[in-house]
Amino acid sequence: STMPPLLASIANAGRHGVLVKSAAVMESVGRTSVVAFDKTGTLTEGRPQVVDVTALGGREPSEVLALAAAVEHPSEHPLGRAIVTAAADRGLDVAAVDDFRALPGRGVTGTVGGRRVTVERTLADSTGTVVGVLVDDREIGRIELVDRLRDDAAEAVRLIGDVTSGPVLLLTGDRPSVATDVAARTGIDDVHADLLPEDKVRVVAEAGGHVLVVGDGINDAPALMAAGTGVAMGRRGADLAVQTADAIIVRDDLTAVAALIRLSRLARRYVI
Ligand code: ADP
Ligand code: MG
Repeated sequence: STMPPLLASIANAGRHGVLVKSAAVMESVGRTSVVAFDKTGTLTEGRPQVVDVTALGGREPSEVLALAAAVEHPSEHPLGRAIVTAAADRGLDVAAVDDFRALPGRGVTGTVGGRRVTVERTLADSTGTVVGVLVDDREIGRIELVDRLRDDAAEAVRLIGDVTSGPVLLLTGDRPSVATDVAARTGIDDVHADLLPEDKVRVVAEAGGHVLVVGDGINDAPALMAAGTGVAMGRRGADLAVQTADAIIVRDDLTAVAALIRLSRLARRYVI
């Protein structure tokens, strides 16, 4: 065809299910030397399930779950949606929340029945994610959630090894115990856990070279912005991640990341 190589590769990337936002992105992504994956919603399904609810101080687990669901109701986060779903599945009465606020990389907070309710990360050492439920700063219980690895996660990491020689990183706000379990099962050995959104930016900057970041969440937006190439998960990704990214995985196929790098390299061979 007479189409310029970069435009032809943008069309090709589209066939692989990646929407590339500009020719400049298509050109530069071939320079990728480091790939960094977010964990939750990127390497994992992003559909965690509540597996355990514990209550403290004479409360009932159902009360803990109902309060958590109340404050998570407006949340876009997969953990929040899982908690809301679990409460609905159990037929619990869920109150309304006022002054809802997301605490990116940490949790959510709001007012329920005049009391401040917060659901946030804990330092529990588990391969599941454990969040604490607090009323007026006192912990009333804990909820454990488990998220399945995506079927194509290990394959996506392996294929990246074929197109780049640099390291593959895992970036997560979650606990080291959860992160190393996911990393071991996907073949990643460079794990960065306990990261706040700004910490992800720092790790990307310190990695050096052209870093491609793949993420789905509001908490990933700063890292997607700081990346040489930011790639957002389109299907269940947060709007902010999709808007901030340079390219979007519109079909639910993580192996497309390697295809994107390979297509850019091919196009550049003809440009140069
Ligand atoms: P990841 O980087 O793996 O996508 P996040 O940075 O979004 O994870 O979240 C980091 C941690 O903060 C979670 O593991 C959880 O403990 C806590 N957290 C974040 N958002 C919420 C939420 N809506 N409800 C409860 N906990 C949350
Ligand atoms: Mg995420």
